[in-house]
Amino acid sequence: DVKPIRRALLSVSNKEGLLDLARALADRGVELLASGGTHAALTEAGLASIEVADYTGQPEFLGGRVKTLHPRIHGGILARRHREEDQADLERHSVAPIDLVVVNLYPFEAALQRLRGGDPTNAPTSSRGELDAGLIEEIDIGGVALIRAAAKNHRDVAVVVDPAAYPSFLHEFAARNGGTSAFWRAQAAADAFATTACYDALIAQWFRDQLPLLGPNDPPEHDPRFPQRLTLPLRRRELLRYGENPHQAAAVYESLPPERGPNVVHAQQLHGKGLSYNNLLDADSALRMTLDGPDGRPMAVILKHNNPCGAAIADHVAEAFERAYQGDPVSAFGGIVGLNTVVDLDTAQRMSQPGRFLEVILAPGFTPEAFEWLTTKPTWRNSVRLLITHSNARGTRPEGLAFQRILGGVLVQEWDDLGPEFGPDHLGEVVTQRAPTPEERTQLDFAWRICRMVRSNAIVLVKEGRLVGVGAGQMSRLDSVRIAIEKAGDHAQGAVLASDAFFPFRDGPDLAARAGVTAIIQPGGSKRDDESRAACDEHGMAMIFTRRRHFRH
Ligand code: 5GP
Repeated sequence: DVKPIRRALLSVSNKEGLLDLARALADRGVELLASGGTHAALTEAGLASIEVADYTGQPEFLGGRVKTLHPRIHGGILARRHREEDQADLERHSVAPIDLVVVNLYPFEAALQRLRGGDPTNAPTSSRGELDAGLIEEIDIGGVALIRAAAKNHRDVAVVVDPAAYPSFLHEFAARNGGTSAFWRAQAAADAFATTACYDALIAQWFRDQLPLLGPNDPPEHDPRFPQRLTLPLRRRELLRYGENPHQAAAVYESLPPERGPNVVHAQQLHGKGLSYNNLLDADSALRMTLDGPDGRPMAVILKHNNPCGAAIADHVAEAFERAYQGDPVSAFGGIVGLNTVVDLDTAQRMSQPGRFLEVILAPGFTPEAFEWLTTKPTWRNSVRLLITHSNARGTRPEGLAFQRILGGVLVQEWDDLGPEFGPDHLGEVVTQRAPTPEERTQLDFAWRICRMVRSNAIVLVKEGRLVGVGAGQMSRLDSVRIAIEKAGDHAQGAVLASDAFFPFRDGPDLAARAGVTAIIQPGGSKRDDESRAACDEHGMAMIFTRRRHFRH
């Protein structure tokens, strides 16, 4: 099934690797057709080609919008070599068959990023009522048509859509004596359709991003965040060693263009082995927790299996780390640490004390001494991974939508967040006789921020700016309370409690009161809220209803 290549069409935006490719083709006597700019580049390098406009007799027009959209081009690509009628058509219209199409598209993605000032954290530049200027001309029309035509006719035609694929093509071309195998062409066709699909998805996303600027002020009939069809412009960033478990293959894909704001996918890894699937999951939670931390003070969180087992705020980063670690030193072993402050030597030395081990340390930076310490300590240097993320983005709302896969489909929702106002002075409604003291408010604020990132049913106990007990992922809220209290031990006395969803019965608050908890923050909304409230009043506890639930599954 090897098909020889006698004539090739070259139309490339990215001229990288073009000359080597063209030379290899010319060396085997392949006739080259090329669109304007590509022809000029070949000519300049002394390589012979026929310009498409000369071949078709139709000059490029509409400022380049129409270059290769011509029956003599598309007929040559789409004709079935085994079908007599097609061959007769080619002869009748004096169309020459084209066996190879090499195209890469106008760089829409690069143009979009340039428009955003090269910084994915910049907002779109368009103003109300108009689309981002200039990007419309970056939408490739003819190139996409060429790619799709060649891919459709893969039985006879080979297609190459990316300079990164030239080596693979040249290898095949040499191995097949100037042709390509049926398998290679089918694979190339799959790549080609994936490329045009992703290209169009990116354009669709660009349109969607701007709908709020274009639309009427009154609410739309259907929610544009959840369109009838979802386009997901994603590109594989990396194959991972394995997934959640060693028998699962896995990869990370990044959004196109990169999503604004700090994230783990684009964090800079300074040191250590590649991040595993679970590292990425935990590091993402660690980052989200530090971005959501209370204002101003250094904060440290430690996660295991995507649940925080330590969290603390303090005046110094080393102290924040130490207090977070002390919250549950047994669980913290092998943990993932997130910090909102640059790691200094003192912190680094505490992190690597004998008997301590951390898988990932994620921070806005490391002092040179801390970096040196963490990367040269013999027992550590091979295993710890150091990650830098932008941290000056406290309170950044995640972009886009959150996805969770289920068999046969995908669940899509907005990202969970704390809400715009949340803070010690805006916790919610006090529903008990006793109002929380200012100190309790500070603790409740911290507790709520942590609780949000614990798997449901989530209960956390916080005391003096430190997580002292967590009950995570239990099927009964009461069990989560029990576990949090048990974890806290003596520290439960005088702690505050946060619950990610309402207490269905008063048994939870009763249990908390008996352990010495002084204040509770929870969404409220149960039929039996009054019973929980009565329990708090009986025990002199303060309680706040946030009216916002934070399940996490
Ligand atoms: P060149 O630099 O050779 O003039 O143009 C190459 C670029 O034009 C490639 O990115 C190719 O995808 C694109 N292209 C080829 N034919 C057409 C066409 O008819 N219309 C448009 N808009 N782009 C085309």
